[in-house]
Amino acid sequence: MASMRALQKKAPGPGLELCEVEIPQIRPDQVLVKIEMAAICGTDLHIYNWDTWSANRVSPPVTIGHEFAGRIVEVGENVTGLAEGTLVTAEGHFTCGRCYYCRTGQGHICDDVKILGVDVDGIFAEYAAIDAENIWPLPDGFDPAIGAVHDPLGNAVHSAYVHGLTGKNVIVTGCGPIGLFCIALARQAGARAVFASDMNEYRIELAKQLGADHVINGGSEDLETVVKPATGIGADVLLEMSGSSQALASGLRSLRKGGAASLLGIFSSNVSIDLDAVIFNQLTLYGINGRRMFDTWFQMQAALEAGLDITPVITHRFKFEEYDEAMALMNSGRCGKVLLVP
Ligand SMILES: [Zn+2]
Ligand SMILES: [Zn+2]
Repeated sequence: MASMRALQKKAPGPGLELCEVEIPQIRPDQVLVKIEMAAICGTDLHIYNWDTWSANRVSPPVTIGHEFAGRIVEVGENVTGLAEGTLVTAEGHFTCGRCYYCRTGQGHICDDVKILGVDVDGIFAEYAAIDAENIWPLPDGFDPAIGAVHDPLGNAVHSAYVHGLTGKNVIVTGCGPIGLFCIALARQAGARAVFASDMNEYRIELAKQLGADHVINGGSEDLETVVKPATGIGADVLLEMSGSSQALASGLRSLRKGGAASLLGIFSSNVSIDLDAVIFNQLTLYGINGRRMFDTWFQMQAALEAGLDITPVITHRFKFEEYDEAMALMNSGRCGKVLLVP
């Protein structure tokens, strides 16, 4: 049996291990993908650090990672329409296909979802077995680095496209990779002005590069005092990507009456918000979970084909064996998207 290298969580506790494991056997409805580029997600960092969420959700041993681009090297016997040699990425949420949500076109909130690199072996490995129905083929000659960030870009597209952004004043709170993607999407959509806030100067610089008109350091400046004078009445749309209760509160205060917010950032503890302000200002709050399958993916493809430039978001590349260094950099926050090259 041929073997490969894989980054695994071998046992409960912090850290990862670079292991020699068997190349996965595919089921008849799967394809085997040779990974060309992987990207580290916040989820992977949670599992690396072994926080409370990971301890409750992840059952080691498991190969982690879900953001990738790679080439199909084997096609399961029941799979049609996919060929060896095709560059692909994939939706990392495997849905049950049977629950109410799956059967009403809302598979992204499936009751029995299995997540790549969390519930099943992931892609921080030389090869991965992926369900064919989750595969998203990429055009010939497509940059594998951009292919590898489709999953988080899809989160941004889902969050941003809930609203029409053309001509709108848009706030993005939290300038990690998904927030930075949101800035690029708002620019491409023809937003009137984009306000971006973070506490981290490195990410504030990236926000400027992606085209934010106003950047606000939430640690020392107040979002509302920037947004209100610049817009007259407040912003139309808030895209909350930070998971900071302070950023959420200041973002909501900076919206105009009738404004709307997408909430994607995950809060580590319960948050209290001013519901009277939501009611009397008639605000709309949208919770955003994952990517719509596959509406969001077609929208993302269209945005990229129309010239969406997200290359400045990708700031670092590490070899597989340098995973500790990559995770330390992620923990420092002095980075955009970090890639792992097998
Ligand atoms: Zn991800
Ligand atoms: Zn389902």
